[in-house]
Amino acid sequence: MKVFINGKFYEKEDAKVSVFDHGFLYGDGIFEGIRLYSGNVFKLDKHIDRLFRSAKAIMLEIPYTKEQMIENVCATCRENKLSDAYIRLVVSRGMGALGLSPLSCSNPQVIIIADQIQLYSNELYEKGLKAITVPTRRNSSAALPPMVKSLNYLNNILAKIEAQNLGYQECLLLNNEGYVAECSGDNVFIVFEGKVYTPPTSCGSLSGMTRQTVMEVAREMGYEMIEQPLTRYDIWTADECFLTGTAAKLIPLVELDSRKIGDGKVGKTTKALLEGFNKVVTEKGVRI
Ligand code: PMP
Repeated sequence: MKVFINGKFYEKEDAKVSVFDHGFLYGDGIFEGIRLYSGNVFKLDKHIDRLFRSAKAIMLEIPYTKEQMIENVCATCRENKLSDAYIRLVVSRGMGALGLSPLSCSNPQVIIIADQIQLYSNELYEKGLKAITVPTRRNSSAALPPMVKSLNYLNNILAKIEAQNLGYQECLLLNNEGYVAECSGDNVFIVFEGKVYTPPTSCGSLSGMTRQTVMEVAREMGYEMIEQPLTRYDIWTADECFLTGTAAKLIPLVELDSRKIGDGKVGKTTKALLEGFNKVVTEKGVRI
């Protein structure tokens, strides 16, 4: 495997960054998770736009143009002779002195890894996940805005640990007001009386690419797609629920907080949307 670091390719064993990189020392940096489907990078321009927005929010200068970043991602896929992969694009603040100040860091590090990823077993995709709401709340937008895809995932990791300690693989995070934000690395959708709902990003979730795609697919398939604040009650009493993310794709959630969602089985709308989603991702995208 070859890893892109600042314009050059390195073998996996030699792909290294400094221990003085503020990405490592402080989580000072940003990233994107992108998918390559059948030789096409899905929504690559949109991922690069989101990366640049995250960079702007944390005042980090990416040393490439958007067009160059698109080419860097495609080149990494070509170099690794991949046609299906998960691409992790990281931009860290770079090497600096000890101490929080980014002013001592002059060279942001641009890293692109393209590899396989499987977050959940095939069985879970067929039967659905069970999750629990955890006490850890999603970052407040007044702190580190959840819209920034930063290298600082401790908020989400703490939530995941709480869920795992209770024997669950996934968790639901609420925002400070008690509304549904998202899961540890995925957006949340429910289906109720034939309509599809997801919380607005103002409730503390990431503006997910998969979320956006599923919303488009749902509307094209004729479903009413509604963005509105949701509570745990809405999920407990929904007919169906599923999570979306680039790594997870679309995975059914069949139980939350020991309540079966619907009849506790993967629902027909979830299946239909998954089919629609799979079609879109393999047909569209930037050819590498
Ligand atoms: N929320 C969080 C916290 C995430 O890290 C991610 C990405 N894994 C998502 C939502 C889903 O976003 P996307 O569909 O763009 O991958």
